[in-house]
Amino acid sequence: MKLSRRRIFGLVAAITVLTGMAGALSFPALERHYMRQQATQDAVPLKLAAEGLRAALERYAPLPALIAERPELTALLNAPDDAALISAVNEALRQTATTVKASDVYLMDISGRTIAAASYLEPGSYLGRNFDYQSYFTQALNGDLSSFSVYGTTTGERGYFYAAPVEDGERIVGVLAIKFNISAFQSIWRGADSEFMVADRNDFVFMSSRPDWHFRAMRPLSEGTLRLIAQNLQYPIDRIDLLPITAVPLSADAQQVYIEGTNRESFVLSSLRLPDLDWTMSALSPRRPATLQALNTLLIAGLSALLALMGLLAYLLKQARQAEAFAKEQEAKRLLETAVAERTADLQTALGDLRQTQTDLIQAGKLSALGQMSAALSHEFNQPLAAVKSYADNAEAFLERDRVTEARDNISRISKMADRMATISAHLRNFARRPQQATGPLLLNAVIQDALAMTEMRLASEGGAVSYSPPDTEIWVTGGHVRLQQVIVNLINNALDAMEDQPTRVVTLTLDGTTLHVRDTGPGIAPEKVANIFDPFFTTKAPGKGLGLGLSISYNIVSDFGGTLSAKNHPDGGAIFSVTLRPAVPVEVAAQ
Ligand code: ADP
Repeated sequence: MKLSRRRIFGLVAAITVLTGMAGALSFPALERHYMRQQATQDAVPLKLAAEGLRAALERYAPLPALIAERPELTALLNAPDDAALISAVNEALRQTATTVKASDVYLMDISGRTIAAASYLEPGSYLGRNFDYQSYFTQALNGDLSSFSVYGTTTGERGYFYAAPVEDGERIVGVLAIKFNISAFQSIWRGADSEFMVADRNDFVFMSSRPDWHFRAMRPLSEGTLRLIAQNLQYPIDRIDLLPITAVPLSADAQQVYIEGTNRESFVLSSLRLPDLDWTMSALSPRRPATLQALNTLLIAGLSALLALMGLLAYLLKQARQAEAFAKEQEAKRLLETAVAERTADLQTALGDLRQTQTDLIQAGKLSALGQMSAALSHEFNQPLAAVKSYADNAEAFLERDRVTEARDNISRISKMADRMATISAHLRNFARRPQQATGPLLLNAVIQDALAMTEMRLASEGGAVSYSPPDTEIWVTGGHVRLQQVIVNLINNALDAMEDQPTRVVTLTLDGTTLHVRDTGPGIAPEKVANIFDPFFTTKAPGKGLGLGLSISYNIVSDFGGTLSAKNHPDGGAIFSVTLRPAVPVEVAAQ
C-alpha cells in the first residue's frame, strides 16, 4: 500500500481521535470498576467496625442487670416515699454512673416513673419523669435482661440506653436503666479512613462517625413509621431530616452515593447487614481514589496508545520516505537512461557526419592533388608542346626558303624539347611505380661526396657555397647509393632554389651519427606549409619551375631505406632538412 504523508497524518489523527473517544467512553465503566474494587477493600474495615460496635454494645449489656441486683433498689421500690432511702440510692447511683462513665443511671417503678437517678443533683434530671413509653422500659418490664435502644432527646442529643428489670423474688418491681452518650462508642470509628453510619430497619441513621448525619433518614419515612416514632417519642420528630442522598448501585453490597450538603460529596458506600440487631452498617469511602485510579489507568493506556501511534507514525513515514526515494531514484534512472539514449543518438549522428566529412575531405584531397597534378603537368607539357609547334612551323618556313641551317637548328630544339618531356614522363613513372630496389650498407660520406660533385656545376654558374667537413670515421648506413644521392642532390637544389634572392647563399651539411642535416640561409618554410611540403605535387614555385614531386619522392626513398626525412626551421633562420638513416654493418667487416 502506498500512503502519502498527508494520508498518514490523517490516519494517525483519526486513530488518535477514536482512541480519545474510546477512552472518554470507557472512563465511567473504568471508574465503576475501581469503585467496586474500593468497596471490596472497604468490606474489611467495615466488618472490623461492626465487630467493634457489637463488642461495645455487649460490654455494657450486663451492667443494668448487675446493678439491679442491689437490695437497696428493691427496698426503695417497696418504700418509694422513704426520703432517707431515696437520697441514699440517688447517691449510690451517682457513684456507679461515675465509675462506669455512664451519663445517667436511673430507677423507675413499674409505672415508668423515675424515683431515683444519678443525675439527681443536675438540672434537667430525669428524676420524677415517666418513661413508660420507651421501648427499653417496656422490654425490661417484660423480663428482657438487657434491652438496648437509642433515643434522641428533645435537645437533639443522642442517648444509648440499656435497661434490666429489678426483681423482688419472682416479681418485677421496677426497671433500672443506664444511659450512655455517643462518646462511649466513638472509639469504634477511630483510625478508619472511611466514614461509618448505622441505620435501623427504617434506614434511619442513629449512629455515625459524621455528627451531621445523625438522626437523619436515608429515605423518606412512611406515615406509619413516623407515627410509630412519634408514639414512642423515640426521636424528636420535628427534627427528623432527610439525608439528601442519591444512590447508584454498584454491586449487591455497594453503591455509589452522592450526599448533598454545603458541597456535594461523592462516596463509595459498602453496607453490611447486622440481622440480629436489625441494623445496617455502612462504610462510606470517598470516591476520589477510584476516580484518580481510573484516570491513571486511562492516562497510562493513553500514553501507551500514543507511543504505539508514534511508532506507527514513524514506521509509516519511513515507509513513505523510502517509497519516495525509490520513486525518485527510478525517475532519475529513467531520466539518465533517456539522456544517455539522446546523447548516444547525437553521437551517432555526429559520427555519421564526421564519416561523411572524412569521406568528403578525402574526396576533396584527391581532387586537389589531381588538380595540382593537372596544373603542373599541363604546364610542363604545354610549354614544350607550344615550343615544339613554333619550332616546327619555323623549320617548315626555313625549309621553304631553303635555309637549311636554321631549319636544322629548330629541329634539334624540337628534339631537346622531346627529351625534356621524356624526362618529365620518366619522373612521373618513377613516382608512380616506386620500384623496389635492393638496399645495402653504404658509406655515407662517399654518397655525400658524389652528390656534391653533381651540384658543383650549378654552384659554379649561380654562385653560392656548400660547407661540409667530412667525418674522421666511416659512417655506414642502410640504403641505395644512387637513390640516396638523388635525395641529397634534391635537398641541395631546393636549398639553392630557396636562397635565390638571398645575399648570402650557403648550404651547410653536418653529420650527427647517421643523420645528415642540410641547412640553408633561405627564408625558411612558412609555418602553415610545413605540414604539406612532403605532399606530392605541392609546390610554391612558379609554374614550370617545380613539379612538387622532389620532397615527396625523397621522403618515400628514405622511408624505403627504413629511415626518416623531416623538415623544420632553424631558430636563426633558414630551413633544416634532416635525413636519418639506419646504421649498417661495414662491408669489410660483413665480408669477413
Ligand atoms: P619543387 O621543388 O618542385 O617545388 P619539392 O617537393 O622539392 O618540389 O618542394 C616542395 C616545396 O617545398 C617547394 O615548392 C618549397 O616551397 C618548399 N621547399 C623545399 N625546400 C625548401 C627550402 N630549402 N627552403 C624553403 N622551402 C623549401
